[in-house]
Amino acid sequence: AKKDGRGIYRVYDESMQADEIPGWNIEQALKTALNDNQLQLVYQPIVALEGNIVQGFEALVRWPHPEQGMVMPDLFIPIAEQSRLIVRLDHYVLRKALRQAAYWFAAGHRFYVSVNVSGTTVSEAGFVPWLQELIQQFGIPCYCLALELTERALIENMLQAKDSLQRLRKLGIRILLDDFGTGYSSLSYLSEFRLDVLKIDRSFINNMQDDEQDHPIVNTIIALAKTLQLSVVAEGIETQQQQHVLHRLGCDYGQGYLFAKPLSAEQALDWLTS
Ligand code: C2E
Ligand code: CA
Ligand code: CA
Ligand code: CA
Repeated sequence: AKKDGRGIYRVYDESMQADEIPGWNIEQALKTALNDNQLQLVYQPIVALEGNIVQGFEALVRWPHPEQGMVMPDLFIPIAEQSRLIVRLDHYVLRKALRQAAYWFAAGHRFYVSVNVSGTTVSEAGFVPWLQELIQQFGIPCYCLALELTERALIENMLQAKDSLQRLRKLGIRILLDDFGTGYSSLSYLSEFRLDVLKIDRSFINNMQDDEQDHPIVNTIIALAKTLQLSVVAEGIETQQQQHVLHRLGCDYGQGYLFAKPLSAEQALDWLTS
C-alpha cells in the first residue's frame, strides 16, 4: 500500500498491515487523541507466585476510538515508534501512570506501577531529569515506578540507554527487561546493562506442555536470571498448572489472565480487596 499526498493509506490488499486501514491515518488520529487526552490506561497485577501477593501493576495503554472501537496498542505503538510520536506517547503514559501511582500511594498501597517505554524515549538526553522532576511533583518515592524495556530498545540505543538505566536505577526505579527470549540471540548485553527483573515472554509460557516434566527453555531462562541475580516475572500465566510449574522451577512472580486481565484503576482496587 502507498501513501497518497495527504499521507492517507488507500490501497487495500490481503497482507494489509495495521497502518493501512483505508482512509484512516493512524498517526494523525493518534496525535489528535494525545492532544485531546483520549488515551486511557488499564492495569494488570504482577503477583508473587508464593502467596499471590501483589507486587506491582503493569500499565497498558488503550485507545477508545469513537468510530474504530477500542484500539489496542499492538496496532498503534509500532506506528508511533516509526516517528518521534512514540516519545510524546511515552511521556503521556508516564504522567498518567504516575498520577495513578500517587493516588494508590496516598491510599497506603506500596506496590509499583510498571510502564512500557521505548528505547527512543529512554535514550533521550533530558529523559532522566524530566522523569525525576515529574516523580517529585507527584510527591512519591521512586520505588513506586518501574520501567519495562525490550531487548530491541536496549540494543538499538546501546550507549545512551546504558547511561540512562544506570541513573534510573540509582534513583531507585526498577528496570524490567520485557519479552525476554524473543529478540536477540546475543546474551552479552545482559551483564552489560544494569537490570532488576527479567520478564519471560508469554510465548514460552504458552508453549509449556502439561505432560512435559522439565520445561527446558523456561528452566534455562530462570536459571540464567538467578545467575545474574535478577528476579523473574512470567508473563501470560493462564492456568493453575502453569503457576504451579513455574513456582516449582523457581520463578518469583507472575502475570496473566489467571490472576487478572488488565483492569481499570477502579476495578484494580476492587480486585485487590476481593
Ligand atoms: P507487553 O508489554 O508484552 O504486554 C503484555 C500483553 O499481554 C498485554 O497486551 C496484555 O493484555 C497481554 N496479556 C496479559 N496477560 C495475558 C494472558 O494471560 N494471556 C494473553 N493471551 N495475553 C495476556 P496489550 O495490552 O494489548 O499490549 C500489547 C503490547 O503493547 C505490550 O506488550 C507493549 O509492548 C505495548 N504497550 C502497551 N502499552 C504500552 C504503553 O503505554 N507504551 C508503550 N510504549 N508500549 C505499550
Ligand atoms: Ca510490558
Ligand atoms: Ca511482555
Ligand atoms: Ca509483548
